[in-house]
Amino acid sequence: MKPTRIGIVGIGKIARDQHIPAIVGNDAFTLAAVASRHGTVDGVPNFPTIEAMLEGCGDIDAVAICTPPQVHYAATKLALESGKHVLLEKPPCTSLLQLDNLARLAAQAKRTLYQTWHSRHAHGVAPARQLLRQRKLRGIQVIWKENVRQWHPGQTWIWQAGGFGVLDPGINALSILTEIVAEPFYPRAARLFVPSNCDAPIAADLEFVTDSGVEISAAFDFRHTGVQTWDIDIDTEEGAMKLSAGGGILTIGDDEVPRDPGALNNEYQAIYRDFAGLIARGASEVDARPLKLVADIFLNAKHITVEPFED
Ligand code: NAP
Repeated sequence: MKPTRIGIVGIGKIARDQHIPAIVGNDAFTLAAVASRHGTVDGVPNFPTIEAMLEGCGDIDAVAICTPPQVHYAATKLALESGKHVLLEKPPCTSLLQLDNLARLAAQAKRTLYQTWHSRHAHGVAPARQLLRQRKLRGIQVIWKENVRQWHPGQTWIWQAGGFGVLDPGINALSILTEIVAEPFYPRAARLFVPSNCDAPIAADLEFVTDSGVEISAAFDFRHTGVQTWDIDIDTEEGAMKLSAGGGILTIGDDEVPRDPGALNNEYQAIYRDFAGLIARGASEVDARPLKLVADIFLNAKHITVEPFED
């Protein structure tokens, strides 16, 4: 079958680290163009904006949106209205109503909208989900602590309104929780710590509860140095389980579930395999639950001002 000609919008960290290698390594896609105000990629036509890319490279079939979330909606809407399939980075946009509208537009245009949650493709997530369907959940504790200067250097957008702050990596944990926990859960208490010179939180202490009363706590922190921690400790009546390394490693009791070499870094290979499958089937995938939880956190949160953040 002819490869899908794809253009990337927003040549920044995630486009370079993950999207370009995943596209180049997948025969179902050809990187046909990129659109970025400053970033460029050798060997393909470069455009400053998505509008110029759609105009100058009208034969592309699909677009991957890799810009900050504040500008996801406009680019995704334009691409769908121009008849392109869209792979949309997390967080999908800054409004639940916008996400509803994108799903509607994709259906109307009969194009694939793949609204991705990359952490759900981490190696341990699917087996953890399966095991939790057979066990009785007692509680979950999430520790998601990273050094913002290491992982988001110079990203001013993350501190601005709609940038999510620590909830940008935090939504990855929420995307895993909504995948593995069978019951819905809701925020019961939330404290957001916001630097006095920023719009978005640098840390968050969160408590959730399921309808049956299972408690889930989460501590997100961008001020963390030393060993970086993306852990989910799961207590069940049948024993403890743990997802670590952002969902990449599953430990059941004391036993780590074996994994192939490279399994900790293949989330985007899986994403592009799934995107090809969705396009072939004429289907879309959109799951708003992690974004709904973030919206619910902001609705319920107490905001605490902390010292200014300097990058
Ligand atoms: P980034 O390094 O800042 O790259 C985003 C690129 O988008 C920028 O380089 C910029 O390129 C372009 N852009 C277009 N409009 C922009 C605007 N109004 N403000 C700032 N940049 C704009 O960010 P990233 O880390 O790649 O993240 C992009 C998206 O991927 C986010 O939604 C993020 O949550 C998601 N993501 C990131 C990671 C990660 O580890 N970094 C992991 C998974 C998902 P030009 O200046 O050339 O236009």
